[in-house]
Amino acid sequence: MTIGAERSHPSWHARRTRALALKAERPHATDLLGGYLGVLDQQERLYAISRDGHWPDLRNAEGDARPMLRLERLPYESLARTFGEFVRELRQVMPDTLAPAVATLDAAHAGLSADLLRDAAARRPLSLRAESLRTDAATLEFFCRAFLQPIAEALAHSYAEPTSKRTDATCPLCGWPPQFALLQDEPEVQGRRSLVCALCSVEWTFARSVCVNCREDEAERLDYHVADSVPHVRIEACTSCRTYLKIIDLRAEGTLAPVVDEIASVELDLWCDEQGLTKLQRNLLGM
Ligand SMILES: [Zn+2]
Ligand SMILES: [Zn+2]
Repeated sequence: MTIGAERSHPSWHARRTRALALKAERPHATDLLGGYLGVLDQQERLYAISRDGHWPDLRNAEGDARPMLRLERLPYESLARTFGEFVRELRQVMPDTLAPAVATLDAAHAGLSADLLRDAAARRPLSLRAESLRTDAATLEFFCRAFLQPIAEALAHSYAEPTSKRTDATCPLCGWPPQFALLQDEPEVQGRRSLVCALCSVEWTFARSVCVNCREDEAERLDYHVADSVPHVRIEACTSCRTYLKIIDLRAEGTLAPVVDEIASVELDLWCDEQGLTKLQRNLLGM
């Protein structure tokens, strides 16, 4: 299994460069990418701290059928303070609509922040916690996910290559669903498809022309959609389960940070929404 769409480590420089380029090129994604650039700065700092951090052993025993990384073993109580600082820094670069949620998280005690992070990492719905905090679940999820991503990426890159040969629909390292698929040419395989994790960015192989959600493999039940504005990103929509996933063609020029292209191709998400399709996994910015 190859680690990371960006190979040996996430290239913050490549993400930033790509986000700046697309922000200038694509007016409808300017606000989205402006916010994302602010998030990137904070995530890069957290990634650097996390790479040097001393973590408990989070790995499952070899041969265990579960994902390799046991996110539930992260030291959430001690991460709560860093989370508070991270949220306050993000507040400076995010829209004012997030201010009430920041104030709520600021006032929350460490135990509550730890519980929120633990739930978010396990992908448990945050709606009940949001209700009791009088804020909205989507905002809480955004902050938790923005915080957990660079930690998970740092952990992913600190472990030697997992030997998993599984071709699951979820990440073999952390168990999260894929954010998008990649197409690339390799010496033996032209147009190999892989999936990239929405949390830790690990990349793993998955069969082509099979729905990631329901495993539909009848060719006529999988539809593809491309927009002229972003020819290197296409939609694979399954007519059996009405779920879609973006496929980013790494053979196109400039796609060195596909996570950014996934966010910037927002018109495809709007088109899918109009068609009544549900995204397999929303991205960090909620699209
Ligand atoms: Zn993962
Ligand atoms: Zn399906």
